[in-house]
Amino acid sequence: MARIAFVNGRYLPIDAPAVQAEDRGLQFADSVYEVWTVRDGRFLDSTGHFRRLLRSLDELRIPHPMSVAALDVALKETLRRNRLKDATVYLQVTRGTARRDHGFPAADTRPTVIITARPSSSAAGDARAERGVAVITRPDTRWARCDIKTTGLLANVLAKQDARETGAWEAWLVDTEGRVTEGTSTNAWIVTSDGVLVTRPITDNILHGVTRAAVIEAARAEGHTVEERGFTLEEAHAAREAFITSATSLATPVVEIDGRPVGNGAPGSVATRLRELYLASAHER
Ligand code: PLP
Repeated sequence: MARIAFVNGRYLPIDAPAVQAEDRGLQFADSVYEVWTVRDGRFLDSTGHFRRLLRSLDELRIPHPMSVAALDVALKETLRRNRLKDATVYLQVTRGTARRDHGFPAADTRPTVIITARPSSSAAGDARAERGVAVITRPDTRWARCDIKTTGLLANVLAKQDARETGAWEAWLVDTEGRVTEGTSTNAWIVTSDGVLVTRPITDNILHGVTRAAVIEAARAEGHTVEERGFTLEEAHAAREAFITSATSLATPVVEIDGRPVGNGAPGSVATRLRELYLASAHER
């Protein structure tokens, strides 16, 4: 079955020409995006992802292209037309198409809206979580507004490719003070030898992960102490556990950092439990 994409109000075969050459998303990465995991037809953490989408648009002064209700219909219709129940759904909004010029285009320029969906097997994600993943570390060379979910992801792309070429799943990015900011497409966590969960606070230099926020809530509800602060690689190497969170990885244990085992080298019990708790609660949000 041909995959279907939503582009500016139309449902088209994914390979149909649909976006114009002077679209600002293409010319300047002048665009934002969101990602939802869908399980059994339900969008996980839908509200949080919409809230962040509106924040990203507002921070970049991109007009809202459609109401949230209309976007929600389009997301669900894209899923339906692709006949998917377990999926990853992507939404991009660009500032629209206009003669190339760095400054904003005319106020009546319509943003471009693109939605795509693809199958994502929960079994594959669960198997990965049962094995745990390896991460490498790379300097964080991104811009100073990583809290905005823009499609300007070149530094993330290069670091992820380094991870792939090293046989790792993710790259953790490290700031100039030696602290981990986050992964290329995930937030980064450790569990210290005292059992304290540590993840970086939400400032301008990390994405405000929707899954991160839900996992903090779940962890605190279970009685864990969560410290929102940066951690160094030394702390990560001494940690009992490490894990990543994101819409697509949920909570996934990290078992190796730069070739060195984390803890006993097996997925940690805290991360494994938080993955279960997250999955159990995310349908409702
Ligand atoms: N950090 C970065 C850089 C990301 O790209 C993502 C997700 O795409 C995340 C963190 C995790 O965010 P969320 O939990 O909202 O998917």
